[in-house]
Amino acid sequence: MDFAWTEEQAAFRKEVIRFAKTELDDDLIHRDREEEFSWDHWKKCAEFGIQGLPVPQEYGGGGADTLTTVCALEALGYGCRDNGFLFSLNAHMWTTEIPLTTFGTNEQKRRYLPKLISGEWIGLHAMTEPMSGSDAYSLRTRAERHGNCYVLNGTKTFITNAQQAHLFIIFANVDPSKGANGVSAFLVERDTPGLEVGKKLHKMGLRTSPMCEVALVDCEIPAENLLDKEGSGQAIFTTSMEWERTCILASHLGMMQRMLENSVKYARERNQFGQPIGKFSAIGNKIADMEVRLETGRLLLYKAAWLKSQGRHPLRESSIAKLYISEACIQSCLDAIQIHGGYGYMTEYQIERELRDAIAGKIYSGTSEIQKVIIAGMHGF
Ligand SMILES: Cc1cc2nc3c(=O)[nH]c(=O)nc-3n(C[C@H](O)[C@H](O)[C@H](O)COP(=O)(O)OP(=O)(O)OC[C@H]3O[C@@H](n4cnc5c(N)ncnc54)[C@H](O)[C@@H]3O)c2cc1C
Repeated sequence: MDFAWTEEQAAFRKEVIRFAKTELDDDLIHRDREEEFSWDHWKKCAEFGIQGLPVPQEYGGGGADTLTTVCALEALGYGCRDNGFLFSLNAHMWTTEIPLTTFGTNEQKRRYLPKLISGEWIGLHAMTEPMSGSDAYSLRTRAERHGNCYVLNGTKTFITNAQQAHLFIIFANVDPSKGANGVSAFLVERDTPGLEVGKKLHKMGLRTSPMCEVALVDCEIPAENLLDKEGSGQAIFTTSMEWERTCILASHLGMMQRMLENSVKYARERNQFGQPIGKFSAIGNKIADMEVRLETGRLLLYKAAWLKSQGRHPLRESSIAKLYISEACIQSCLDAIQIHGGYGYMTEYQIERELRDAIAGKIYSGTSEIQKVIIAGMHGF
């Protein structure tokens, strides 16, 4: 076992932190309040090579292995406090680029990947519906084959990036009699007639990552826009979720490191009863707990990423990492607020936003309860 980053990874990590701190952190209180996505930051990330990281070089990507990608995303989470923006970035990478890279035809990859990597286009996937969330494969959206086309009808909700995306991976059932085995994925371009982006949904956190409803009303797409084959929806969705559960939480680790450092600094500088508050064991214990959570989260996440780098499918490990880090991050946000006292509760101190952002981690990419179902399922329950 080797727990150290290579020299190249360590240098890259430093460079990502410098980039994130200098280029991605401006005007955040305002953008959070106004629920504004930053196209400027999106383009800067693309120029830096973030969107292309996991995509093979032949399609213009960086071809980075999973551990290097995780290293970069953790650094991004540390240097950039805009968790909503990073959430959009992760959704784009793991639920659009990865399924396209893994399941797309050469023609589909050549057509879409360069635009997704260059920052010109944004992608999303739309699985959730008003009547199907955790029970994702019970979706009601239908795809009917009509000659050389599929016609899609249905409604999707909670769709990240829908406001600004160009490429939608829509999950629909081609044959409801087959249940989950009928679920398939389709590549739908934004300007396709019948694809309607609905009202913007207002959220508690991740407010710089716009979310909307999406309706499909007799939306006709060419048959060649089917991703892989009919009935591949489960495999495609599972692949996306395995990647997302491994990598999206890397940004949380960066955020936890940032909160730990801020809390230590504050506990040293803030005096009460004639001494720094860090000297009170009640505060010191919180700092110790924050550090233990961060290190535990790292071990879990790096193991899942390492397994992926070995070409394995860490379904169990990515679920454990996702469950642990999302919950640990919320507790560390609460501890950071408590250490900062009344100031921690104030918007100006920018910790309350971290908590609002972190809470979503218990819900997206499979709720905490569903991660436990997956983990217990490995024991036959
Ligand atoms: C910030 C954010 C971004 C999102 N982005 C996207 C996106 O881009 N694309 C997309 O398709 N979806 C997206 N979603 C939707 C997300 O995937 C769903 O919200 C999630 O899967 C849960 O579904 P639900 O909200 O319908 O809750 P439900 O499935 O109705 O669950 C309600 C409660 O019941 C519990 N529960 C359900 N089933 C079980 C069970 N078997 N055992 C124990 N407990 C259970 C849940 O854990 C939860 O606590 C996003 C959600 C959020 C919050």
